[in-house]
Order: sequence, then C-alpha cells, then structure tokens
Amino acid sequence: MPFTLPPLPYAPDALAPHISGQTFAFHHGKHHQAYVNNLNGLVQGTPLADAPLEDVIRASAGKPDQAGVFNNAAQVWNHTFFWNSLSPQGGGEPTGDLAERLTKAFGSVAAFKDQFKQAGATLFGSGWVWLVADQGTLKIVKTSNADTPLVHGQKALVTCDVWEHAYYLDYQNRRPDFLQAFLDHLINWDFAARNLV
Ligand code: MN
Repeated sequence: MPFTLPPLPYAPDALAPHISGQTFAFHHGKHHQAYVNNLNGLVQGTPLADAPLEDVIRASAGKPDQAGVFNNAAQVWNHTFFWNSLSPQGGGEPTGDLAERLTKAFGSVAAFKDQFKQAGATLFGSGWVWLVADQGTLKIVKTSNADTPLVHGQKALVTCDVWEHAYYLDYQNRRPDFLQAFLDHLINWDFAARNLV
C-alpha cells in the first residue's frame, strides 16, 4: 500500500499569524506531499514498499545507494512529527515531569528555550532542531537535511523545521523570529510530554 500524506492535526490557518495558511498550503500540500510521492516512486516494486515508514528509514540510513529513499522517507516522518509538535494552544510553559526533566538538563525551562533557539538559529543550511531523550537525558540536537534522531538511538520529543521553506513566506530571512514564535506560541508541550513516557 502506498505511503500517504497524513492530514494536518488542525486547520491550515489555525496557527496564523505565527504560521500562515499560505505556508501550510505549500509546506504540507506541496513539500510534504512531494516527499510522499517521491518515496512511493522510489520503493515501488521493492520489499520496502510494504514496510512501515520507520523500518524504511532505518533500512536505508547510512547507505549511499539508498540516499534517495532515506531522504524522502525521513522527510515524510520528520514533517508529520513537526505538525504534531505545533498546536493552536501551544506555547506557554511545560508542566509536571517534563518541566522537571528540562530543568534538570538545562538549568531552567527558560535556559532550554534560549538554547533551543540558539541551536536552530545557528544550524547552517537546511535541517531540524529537536528536543530528544538520549539514554534518558534530555538534549537539544540539530540534524542536517533529512537526518532524524530515529536513526541515532534517540527518542524525539518535539521538533522545529528550520528549512527555509518552513518560514520564508512569513518571516523571510528572519529564522530567529520564527523560532521565537515557535517557542512562545506554537510548541506542543503535551505532545512532548506524551513522547517522554
Ligand atoms: Mn519542511
């Protein structure tokens, strides 16, 4: 069965003005859809065509002759994870165990936000900034292009896409402003807390 584009978990304009409906029309409707279409074209007629997406990512990771499969499969997974990392009721402060674990790892929730923004702002080129659990410790990691914590033994908790296509229509070159809006208004702490369990 072909891979399909998951629907957004909210209306395309639900995050405006922080992320516009126009951005979602391109980012979800064109970019994410293109990764799905490319992946289906690449795995058609191979054993990976019927494998779960996570298995396709793991099977193709680090194999130069499978780079196209890996890049498109990982981008399908990363984008679905990103849509769930956002919420119309996002932003604010984490609570409970997640807040305690963030404070333990970074000193305070405010320090986590500063470091997350800095990591996203300084990622050179295209990629992703993540909060992950690595052997039980919360860490901020950057990945380039389609790379994903899934293949580095890390549990992704929440992510922000910092490819230019994620913010250019709304913020032009101001990636730090996009990251600030993500942290202040969009980050889905409930999703992060569910992934921590
Ligand atoms: Mn993207």
